[in-house]
Amino acid sequence: MPNVLVLPGDGIGVEITPEAVKVLEAVLKDHSTKLNFEYGLIGGAAIDEVGKALPDATLAAAQAADAILLGSVGGPKWDTLPAPQRPELGGLLAIRKALGLFANIRPVKMLPMLVEASTLRTEVVKNVDLVVLRELTGGLYFGEKGRGTNPRSAFDTLVYTEEEIKRIVELGFQTAVKRRKKLCSVDKANVLESSRFWREITLEVAKNYPEVELTHMYVDNAAMQLVRLPEQFDVIVTENMFGDILTDLASMLMGSIGMISSASLNGSKGLYEPAHGSAPDIAGKNIANPLATILSGALMLRYSFGLEDEAQKIERAIERVLQEGYRTPDLAKPGDKVLGTREMGNAVVEALK
Ligand code: NAD
Repeated sequence: MPNVLVLPGDGIGVEITPEAVKVLEAVLKDHSTKLNFEYGLIGGAAIDEVGKALPDATLAAAQAADAILLGSVGGPKWDTLPAPQRPELGGLLAIRKALGLFANIRPVKMLPMLVEASTLRTEVVKNVDLVVLRELTGGLYFGEKGRGTNPRSAFDTLVYTEEEIKRIVELGFQTAVKRRKKLCSVDKANVLESSRFWREITLEVAKNYPEVELTHMYVDNAAMQLVRLPEQFDVIVTENMFGDILTDLASMLMGSIGMISSASLNGSKGLYEPAHGSAPDIAGKNIANPLATILSGALMLRYSFGLEDEAQKIERAIERVLQEGYRTPDLAKPGDKVLGTREMGNAVVEALK
């Protein structure tokens, strides 16, 4: 039986992960594949319990697991710790790096019944169906960083190797081949040397995918185009920090960050988590939207276990619940039937039947 390590983490992480587990168990109820769920500590919860954001036991369990489901980490309680010890750097970035999860995949597809939840006009967002592939273990977030004293200063370093660019760009092309065959590589090649190198490698990889239409776009223009005409995009591939920013922007096309799932892959292993953080402002109130985490569970079935039908069953069940007018508060408008976190999880389980 495949092992799934569940790492709820902090804040709303502890409220949304049980809903995803509930839905995964329900969709596999009569299936020959069953998942065995184990639990571990990460982030602030791990700091409080064992003094370290990524305990050795968690890393060992993650290395042994077939897939990982993560909630979210961080919160004001741990914000004053030195950066390397904090939940984000010491927990989340550390586990991504240790497992070599270099590819972060975030699908952004508008559901017809959520068009009204977007802050953008209906005609702008109604046909959005794109995927962002973000490089996850290189670039500015992992480069050498430090402080100087004379003058008082700080620096971060942006380094990319050929291999790091090649493997994510290749995945971009492979993803495009299965979709509308359009790949947009986002960089800042007018200013950054690392971006010019990114573009060079991308053009080399492109020779193996003549059927894919490749375009390049500067990141500032990409941000603008994502709100101007998002339907022009099929697959976007980009480096770590640009991807971090663009995926949050893209999430709002769908009305709420609470709808955006993600898969972080290294080929053989996957870590699945919602795109949002631990939302301390709403934690503990049973009002967080669990759908991004439930959708991340669907991605797990698709990418880690090859259970495409079951992944689609979850996606369709969510659509049915939304179609019936049920919403968590982040998506609700007057007249909608508002559900709490647990109740939304239950509604998805019901819709699976
Ligand atoms: P956030 O994503 O936690 O919250 C941003 C806003 O979106 C908040 O108003 C929040 O209430 C809302 N929101 C987020 N998820 C929601 C959901 N499922 N349902 C309804 N509303 C939701 O980002 P932030 O406030 O910038 O960061 C809070 C903490 O989370 C920080 O400690 C940050 O470092 C951490 N963080 C962690 C991750 C991660 O674990 N992957 C990602 C981003 C931020």
